[in-house]
Amino acid sequence: MSTDAPQGTERATDRSGSVGDADAPLLEAEGIKKHFSVEQGFVDRLFGEERLVHAVDGVDLRLAERETLGVVGESGCGKSTLGRTLARLYEPTAGTIRFDGEDISEAGGKRLKRLRKDVQVIFQDPLSSLNPRKTAGEIVGKPLSVHDIATGREREERVDELFREVGLSPDVADRYPHEFSGGQRQRIGIARALAVEPRLIIADEPVSALDVSVQAQIINLMKRLQDEYGLSYVFIAHDLSVVRHVSDRIAVMYLGKVVEEGPTDAIFEAPQHPYTRSLLAAIPSVEGETGRRTVPLEGNPPSPIDPPSGCPFHTRCPEYIGGECEGDEPALADVGDDFGSAHLAACHWNDRDEAERREQDPYDGGVGGQ
Ligand code: SF4
Repeated sequence: MSTDAPQGTERATDRSGSVGDADAPLLEAEGIKKHFSVEQGFVDRLFGEERLVHAVDGVDLRLAERETLGVVGESGCGKSTLGRTLARLYEPTAGTIRFDGEDISEAGGKRLKRLRKDVQVIFQDPLSSLNPRKTAGEIVGKPLSVHDIATGREREERVDELFREVGLSPDVADRYPHEFSGGQRQRIGIARALAVEPRLIIADEPVSALDVSVQAQIINLMKRLQDEYGLSYVFIAHDLSVVRHVSDRIAVMYLGKVVEEGPTDAIFEAPQHPYTRSLLAAIPSVEGETGRRTVPLEGNPPSPIDPPSGCPFHTRCPEYIGGECEGDEPALADVGDDFGSAHLAACHWNDRDEAERREQDPYDGGVGGQ
């Protein structure tokens, strides 16, 4: 393995990256926005000005059956909010979410309950997502009762089976969450998600709080379960080297928007957005693969309450071209390379031909940088 990914992880053999090309995607999001209202002071309220956090600001995504879409970006880029909105834990402010061809953007009642079964969420901190007053057995068994899947003896047997499936002994069913290690707690969280036989799992930083060796075990477990149960994953993480080992495709988010999306190999070997290149530059063993000079990121992202005009990355971009970066928001457009399925990036550099790129190379005395 060429990256500093968790030891022991392996890429699945058939990960050609067809998420964006699937004829009938399992999950499809169009123009998803999620804005939150900011607590306002007296003067704001007096003048009726509403201030909004643009946490997710117009995202399109497609995910096929049995595939994994990695969603990456710095803390605060909106990736967790996107995951929760896709799972309908948050109401989208705008946009359409289709699951298995059905519009679920405004689903309620029985339809929403069915969706809660089909789409499960695994959280970063299993300790806070597991009820401390319930035993592991009660936690894993509860969804079986809520969704009328099994009761009584049948439920107990299914819980035992789920424990074994995630690598835990059924003997631990009477223990409470605080009696487990972080990795074991995440296994309980996975068993709970698996109990209802979901089709999609949205995993929000599922291994970020774990030691590197435990990360590898959890990632390998998730990959085995994907093969066994035919699961699809949206795998959210800030660590690109982790995402690389699970994803068929990767979407890179910045300030509530997807700025690049493509097959995993394309993102690592031929990144087309300066932000992606900067993220990769922070992984020393990957820098050489991109074939581009890169500089690590500096500074912090702008506030999502008052996002910049034009390209959202222009205030930090090491490859800044000029006025157009501030004036026009670049579209997320196909960059037309040869990695098997659509590779999209939102950067004005992609409008330029080779000669213009060479002439304006920001790392060679051309325009660029700020
Ligand atoms: S559009 Fe301009 S500011 Fe935005 S990423 Fe491209 S070069 Fe950088």
